[in-house]
Amino acid sequence: EKKKAKKPDWLRVKLPVGKEYAKVRKLVDEHKLHTICESGNCPNMGECWGAGTATFMILGNVCTRSCSFCAVATGRPPEYDEKEPGRVAEAIRNMGVKHAVLTSVNRDELKDRGAEIWYQTVVQTKQLSPATTIETLIPDVKGNWDALYRMIEAGQEVVSHNVETVPGLYRRVRPQAKYQRSLDQIKLTKEFGKRTKSGIMVGLGETQDEMFQAMDDLVAHGLDILTIGQYLQPTKRHHEVIEYVHPDIFKMYEEEGLKRGLKYVESGPLVRSSYHAERHVNVPI
Ligand code: SF4
Ligand code: SF4
Repeated sequence: EKKKAKKPDWLRVKLPVGKEYAKVRKLVDEHKLHTICESGNCPNMGECWGAGTATFMILGNVCTRSCSFCAVATGRPPEYDEKEPGRVAEAIRNMGVKHAVLTSVNRDELKDRGAEIWYQTVVQTKQLSPATTIETLIPDVKGNWDALYRMIEAGQEVVSHNVETVPGLYRRVRPQAKYQRSLDQIKLTKEFGKRTKSGIMVGLGETQDEMFQAMDDLVAHGLDILTIGQYLQPTKRHHEVIEYVHPDIFKMYEEEGLKRGLKYVESGPLVRSSYHAERHVNVPI
């Protein structure tokens, strides 16, 4: 039998505590909201919610894609809810969220990829909470650049799109995605004038050289901010953890990324793409 890597100490989760956390928790429960923080059982909930940051998923919880690392169900999504933007905007106001991260499943079956719902959610959130900053973690629009422009013209401070892994692993990790297409999406987002951000999970079998190459590719396509975190397997049916990357290597990746021209790198075992997201609003464009 193959020897399995044991989960190291540095991945032990921090228990959520604190007054601010308790307040947000209560509101989330009361409003029956769907946050990625909870459904993904994220280890950073205490810290993020304490800082007033939370991540909301829009456009449903069934995805047209089947990335091998992801716990979201694959299938044909039901009709989307046109009232969702209003509900999310109200929730963000009621919760007193200072920095909202919005994300969605892929809706490849929709002609506009869900862009109008994306646009409305950002605009209505800004209407109800003008002081709240917003990051939109948008999916791959499959080359529909009109959909991209609709998604990113809504006044959000940060536009992220995760390349997730190195190109050599795409077939296994993101079978319906294309590395170059994701890079192009980032480039067009930058040229549109937005602050750009992406994320990579490590421990999926990538090499360090492949990581450096990916950083160079991202810089060449106008990326400002990069997050790097440890991949953890959501269930046994998902992509195997090939390696638990040591904290020193995360630190090295951070230094390398900055050296190679990224403006901000968030790198560590427990980093998720929305970790410390409130800080990324201040990165110069
Ligand atoms: Fe939520 Fe992201 Fe923070 Fe995790 S890292 S608690 S998912 S905002
Ligand atoms: Fe999960 Fe996003 Fe991939 Fe869909 S596109 S399976 S939500 S990672």
